[in-house]
Amino acid sequence: MKRLQENPPLDGPQTPEELYAKVGNTITVDGLGGHEALKLFTETLALACISTDHPRYLSFIPSAPSEHSNLFDLVVGSSALYGGSWLEGAGAVFAENQALRWISDLAGLPQSAGGVFAQGGTIGNLSALVAARVHAREKYPDVARWVVACSSESHSSIQSAADIMDAIVLNVPADANGVMTGANFGACADAYLLANPTHRIFAVVATAGTTNLGIIDDLDGVGLAALKRDIWFHVDGAYGLAALCAPSVRPLFNGVERADSLIVDPHKWLFAPFDACALIYRDPTIAKRAHTQHASYLDTLEDPNEWNPSDYAIHLTRRPRGLPFWFSLAANGTREYAEAMQQTLDVAQHAADLVRNHADLELIHEPQLSIVAFKRKGWAAADYERWSDKLLADQIGFVVPSAHKGEPILRFAIVNPWTTEKDIADILATL
Ligand SMILES: *Cc1c(COP(=O)(O)O)cnc(C)c1O
Repeated sequence: MKRLQENPPLDGPQTPEELYAKVGNTITVDGLGGHEALKLFTETLALACISTDHPRYLSFIPSAPSEHSNLFDLVVGSSALYGGSWLEGAGAVFAENQALRWISDLAGLPQSAGGVFAQGGTIGNLSALVAARVHAREKYPDVARWVVACSSESHSSIQSAADIMDAIVLNVPADANGVMTGANFGACADAYLLANPTHRIFAVVATAGTTNLGIIDDLDGVGLAALKRDIWFHVDGAYGLAALCAPSVRPLFNGVERADSLIVDPHKWLFAPFDACALIYRDPTIAKRAHTQHASYLDTLEDPNEWNPSDYAIHLTRRPRGLPFWFSLAANGTREYAEAMQQTLDVAQHAADLVRNHADLELIHEPQLSIVAFKRKGWAAADYERWSDKLLADQIGFVVPSAHKGEPILRFAIVNPWTTEKDIADILATL
């Protein structure tokens, strides 16, 4: 316990052979008993899982669940709460919906907005795009091919959603700063439709905080250009929209109030455990038409006055996965959230200063949010890989290389209020 508090381990992967050599086959006819199975897990298997909430885990987008949210996850996991329908889970759904309302209000969506906690941003984006296309099909029945527009910097889940939906992705070139502007989107959309008059763009996805560099698209401009063309405006804020609660950066998100749908993952930067994506629709009745499953055994649930979370994404059975987030928000209050968010933003600014002042490093982009991306002068891809492997092997930190414009880079994604300026300095000292 003391070790966990004062010097928490990062741990790291092992090969299947190494793990087999240590635990063998754990599935037996007679069973191992709870104590033995737990021992295998805590003493061996857990050590082969990286601690994603470690203050020096700065790869990808880390996770930083609060103590309240982790504790309440135990409650959710052990009490067989069903979160698919109001009939079965009214109290849980009520609480989840209040947490969604907080986000919706921060974004400036109308009171009629609403949605659901889905598994993750990938499912959230797909669910929103499916609703967008159902809506477009109702209005435009004769369309040869459906197209979703997004920036060349958008997350891979948009391409994945388009593939699932058999839709075409129209890549809008980002400007020199990596931003998709309203003008670029409008020009690109108009040119595409001139060349492909039987196609229709049913949605445009703006990213509010790209995964690699944390860049925010021109939400107001893209939203307006979409409105003019009767195109659904979806904002993918899986990482970045969490910062809506920080007054210092709130203006960067102006225009988000135009969104027809948006997502943000509380498991990324809102201090909740895996896995939860807040998916919110301006007009949830459209999503309900798109997603409600109909069957003789389900029709009893169809009361128009009841909110059934199953009706708002691609899922049926669901745990009330928004509850750990709700509990943490309810217990700590929204001021604490704003302060914790600002703490991570401040550490990111400090990290950028340290990078700027480091003789061998080059900052790639002024951080808008909490991602700090940089290059090590004179290094090739193999040097980055070697450094990253050693950093983990030495249990100093977990920072994997990424790429930007075809060149290897390093990036710190700072979402953990326990990540300190000293953590950053210690990692930079190894470069
Ligand atoms: C992480 C991320 C996603 C995907 O979210 P998952 O929860 O990993 O499915 C989508 N969009 C953006 C911008 C992201 O950063």
